[in-house]
Amino acid sequence: MPPRASSPGAPPVASASGGPGGAALRTAALAAFVVLAAALPQLPVPDFWITQANYIGLYALVAMGLVLLTGVCGLTSFGQAAFVGIGAYATAYLSTALGLSPWLNLAVGLALTCVCALVLGWITLRMSGHYLPLATIAWCLALNYTMANMEWLGKFDGILGVPPLSLAGIDFTRARNIYYPIWAAALVGAVALLNLLDSRPGRALRALNGGVTMAEAMGISTFRYKVQAFVIAALLASVSGWLFAHFQRTVNPSPFGIKWGIEYLIMAVIGGVGHVWGAFAGAAVVKLVEDQLQVLLPRLIGTAGNFEIIVFGIVLVLVLKYAPQGLWPFASSWLPAPRRVRDWEHAPPLAERARPAPGTPLLEVERVRKQFGGLVAVNDVSFSIRGGEIVGLIGPNGAGKSTTFNLVTGVLAKTGGSVRFRGEDITRLRSRHIARLGISRTFQHVKMIPAMTVLENVALGAYQRGGSGIARAMLRLDRAEERRLFREAERQLARIGMASQMHEPAGNLALGPQRLMEIARALCADPVLLLLDEPAAGLRHHEKQALAGVLRQLKAEGISLLLVEHDMDFVMNLTDRIVVMEFGTRLMEGTPAQVQASPAVRAAYLGTEH
Ligand code: ADP
Ligand code: MG
Repeated sequence: MPPRASSPGAPPVASASGGPGGAALRTAALAAFVVLAAALPQLPVPDFWITQANYIGLYALVAMGLVLLTGVCGLTSFGQAAFVGIGAYATAYLSTALGLSPWLNLAVGLALTCVCALVLGWITLRMSGHYLPLATIAWCLALNYTMANMEWLGKFDGILGVPPLSLAGIDFTRARNIYYPIWAAALVGAVALLNLLDSRPGRALRALNGGVTMAEAMGISTFRYKVQAFVIAALLASVSGWLFAHFQRTVNPSPFGIKWGIEYLIMAVIGGVGHVWGAFAGAAVVKLVEDQLQVLLPRLIGTAGNFEIIVFGIVLVLVLKYAPQGLWPFASSWLPAPRRVRDWEHAPPLAERARPAPGTPLLEVERVRKQFGGLVAVNDVSFSIRGGEIVGLIGPNGAGKSTTFNLVTGVLAKTGGSVRFRGEDITRLRSRHIARLGISRTFQHVKMIPAMTVLENVALGAYQRGGSGIARAMLRLDRAEERRLFREAERQLARIGMASQMHEPAGNLALGPQRLMEIARALCADPVLLLLDEPAAGLRHHEKQALAGVLRQLKAEGISLLLVEHDMDFVMNLTDRIVVMEFGTRLMEGTPAQVQASPAVRAAYLGTEH
């Protein structure tokens, strides 16, 4: 599906172009647009255009759910139309058959949608690759078929005579009036999503697209977040359906079928699947262009038919190829650049974990084993680490060092053996639970979210030290905690000498600094034990020296380190003890001097090291 677009929650710092005068002009133009939009129904605009605007608002509600689901989390759904249908049918049935208030029906519809989304999400979100989109098609068809075949839902004719909305004496029968509830819902949804993306749970959601391994290693339950994103997208669609039913005053199955499921996805992709406002751009373009095409194409072709779908298909392919981030990046370059405030300087520091006394047993790895089919990558390897120790793990390429890291941190399941950490058996714990106990790591192949800033990437490491959930984030009640998390992230970045790059997108960094950023991210988790996989690779000489200084400082603070590194000077000068691996087995263990003097180690390295 569409590649991940840039930084959905946090637009770039730098203004696209233009001086201070240009910025003032843009702000004025934006303000004028907002005033015009707010007054639109009061202006002498034909009803037709108000109705168009209403549809755009309704579609944008669904499409923004897809921005979250597909653009941010990387989960593609063709089935959102079915959730629109649940919201619409719930209120249509309850208000006509039982005479209930539309406002009560909204609550019932949302509850019903939530249950359906939880069940469907629970089943389908475990699927990977192409199975998930296929599954969404399947349940969209199934739900739509159900709507169309229930006697009590009016079968294909649907339900007629749905009452209009009214609130505090205001009647929303006319298109001009229902414009306000529709656009209020769309804007509240957009602001809630923007707030969410710029928060602790938002960073966790954005991390899903980078693969689950890194997110889980930060202590994030990726499946839970996938389900939550799925439910939020479904609820937005359901609100759209509720409004749709009271706007149209009738429901039938056709607007909730797979054709519309596909069209909502097209809107999200054309508008910019990584940007919340892109949902509005996409909804507007698709709605307005579709109306023109529906008139124009049958005239050109000479017969009636839904030919616009063919055009959208072609446009979709072109957008994916030439503007994978959709139209929104073009539109946003005309908007005033948002300012980023650094307001966390005086936030109270986060609580820190108690560190073990130097010399107390910390990690005990007992005969761990990993087989990949016939290959024994790690062959009954044992070693231990004590409090405040720096242990090196060296060996030629393919010796099994990274796999050993993955076994200790729970990224890979062990074929055999056991691991104890601070006396607790962690052999079978998942990586996120191990991370929460105080074992942090970096990856040999950097795993980060390129579109997030360096600071946000590093703050991801502090995930488990915060507690704000999705609701708090949407309501912006998480700011005090966010300041504490960002303060910690900046502190760790400063420690490795990268504070000046904190607002850059992480994808802009060279490989060396990317590795340093991963160390800062790992430190943000307040680790007791830090596992670094080739941290000095790609660093210049003076950067390596600075890194060695930081690692010594960490040791002095009581943090233990396990270090995989090919730079022998670096390892020999820094470590207390070294474990040497070759072909998956432990060749020897000893002090740097003992290892350097060992003929066996020399033999293992012959040809690569002297
Ligand atoms: P090192 O980090 O010491 O260079 P690794 O731990 O990455 O070595 O790899 C050890 C061996 O296990 C290598 O032969 C490698 O090809 C193999 N290996 C690593 N990961 C996998 C995997 N996911 N599937 C199959 N083989 C693997
Ligand atoms: Mg490796």
